[in-house]
Amino acid sequence: MRVHARPPRVRSTASIKRVSTPDEIEPFLSDAAHYPGGHADEVCFPASEADVAEILRDGRRVLPVGAQSSLTGGATPQGGIVLSLARMNRILGWTRTGVRVEAGLLLSQLEPELRAHDLYYPPVPTYDGASVGGTVATNAAGAATFKYGTTREWVTAITVVLAGGDVLDLHRGEAMAGAQGGFDIVTTDGRTLRVDVPGYTMPDVRKHSAGYFAKPGMDLIDLFIGAEGTLGVITEVELRLVSPRPSWFAAFVPLAGDDAALALVADLRAESKRTWETADRCGGDVAAIEYMDARCLELLREDGAFVHAGVSCPKDSAAALVLQAELAPGTSRDDAFRELGRLDVRGADAPLLRICRILVEHGVFATATPVLPGEDTRRDALFRLRESVPEGVNRRVRERQRTIDPSISKAGGDVIVPFERLGEALTRYRRIMQAHKLDHAIWGHISDGNVHPNAIPADGEQMDHARRALIEIGMEAIEMGGSPMSEHGVGRSPVKQQLLRRLYGNEGIAAMRRVKEALDPDYRLAPGVLFPEHES
Ligand SMILES: Cc1cc2nc3c(=O)[nH]c(=O)nc-3n(C[C@H](O)[C@H](O)[C@H](O)COP(=O)(O)OP(=O)(O)OC[C@H]3O[C@@H](n4cnc5c(N)ncnc54)[C@H](O)[C@@H]3O)c2cc1C
Repeated sequence: MRVHARPPRVRSTASIKRVSTPDEIEPFLSDAAHYPGGHADEVCFPASEADVAEILRDGRRVLPVGAQSSLTGGATPQGGIVLSLARMNRILGWTRTGVRVEAGLLLSQLEPELRAHDLYYPPVPTYDGASVGGTVATNAAGAATFKYGTTREWVTAITVVLAGGDVLDLHRGEAMAGAQGGFDIVTTDGRTLRVDVPGYTMPDVRKHSAGYFAKPGMDLIDLFIGAEGTLGVITEVELRLVSPRPSWFAAFVPLAGDDAALALVADLRAESKRTWETADRCGGDVAAIEYMDARCLELLREDGAFVHAGVSCPKDSAAALVLQAELAPGTSRDDAFRELGRLDVRGADAPLLRICRILVEHGVFATATPVLPGEDTRRDALFRLRESVPEGVNRRVRERQRTIDPSISKAGGDVIVPFERLGEALTRYRRIMQAHKLDHAIWGHISDGNVHPNAIPADGEQMDHARRALIEIGMEAIEMGGSPMSEHGVGRSPVKQQLLRRLYGNEGIAAMRRVKEALDPDYRLAPGVLFPEHES
């Protein structure tokens, strides 16, 4: 397929904002992974695609960043220019099915606008301070992936500035790989950049953010989604939206342990899939189920998070779930309350009753903390409670990095297996952590089979063990038909880069390098992200 690039649109008169003193640059030298050694010459803040093109034509290395919430070191600069999209944060317009925005817009800035228009964007990651461009670049996914899929499925168009400063406008369905298995991108100076689709097969799981997307006959837009800034700078994104917004029922459900959690999730998943397949108006419709293990609950207790969230969690609980189910748009708190009053009425049927009856069957209804539609403050508190788990772990890791050994850093996995194999996978992950004598906590998006096993290393020596354990855990996920990188991407993490190689082999990495070299032969865009700049 031949695709023509265009020159950048004419620039506004405002000049590019640049900062270069150590104090000004310092806040941009690390991301949420606290990857060590970040450094840069300057930070540029373009205001338009023409500004982005001008920065790229400068000839230096460029790392595009959004909110720098990367958990893989992908947004940590290693020299050259940090290109912050922070000033490109406008909503450009509403389309028939969605919205077009500049890539630097934060999801938390978009949300109030969506609320005002009774619209909903489902694949929001747990951290909603991420930028739209960052979530597209990492193919981010969140709790609701179980029902709605990943960011990729919600992106209908992007504008991307290539390393040489040319611009591509890509609309889903318009540029498909040809019979020869690739794309010919014609630049404004008449050159043809030949991009061959890599021949590896991606794991068949609900979410996967590990290197370049590759499928026979694929859409060119999918090459840039999930490419982690290595192939171009995304400047505009068109997102599909849901209208009207559903109403939500949520619940915190403490449980006796993993077996009880997995059995409940299996039933909730089955009920929801049946509902989607049969369009049953009374069917239970769960969009997301989050999991926390016994160690997570201990950390939450230590941090006083349950009291803060107004949630009770019995001391003998050894796992907990936060579930989110959808109810018909417009369902009010009173409607839901009335509905719950019919729980014991024989023959009474409704989505909320189906979910609650499953909780009753599993003997956990009485100890669950329910949140009804319209109870937004309580719902926010519940999701903050879930977020307090990674925050608590990351804080402890940072503290140890500061006080014990600077080599200590985040040591978290992001593995997915088919849900049916998750019980076995959790046992294997724990066995590995225990064999390495690592304090660890596991949480994540259990409805997808995606969890985050995190080590909390006590010292530098344990940090080495944590890295080895995460590679072993990733290998287990691959062996079980899953992916070692589900939603956070690969970034600069040596562990994740090693797992990417284990997933696709040397030939897979070589195929990715050929894609990279076709579009960015000098490795100027996000060098060192996904794979090292030079093979050792
Ligand atoms: C508490 C917490 C919870 C999280 N939960 C989740 C979760 O549930 N699911 C999930 O998927 N992630 C999660 N993340 C990780 C992170 O939020 C996502 O990876 C997010 O997509 C990053 O967006 P960002 O704007 O911060 O991008 P950055 O961190 O700034 O950049 C990430 C990568 O994308 C590239 N990039 C950024 N913007 C652009 C652009 N405009 N054009 C081209 N490349 C670009 C960068 O070069 C980098 O490689 C979490 C992070 C935290 C701190």
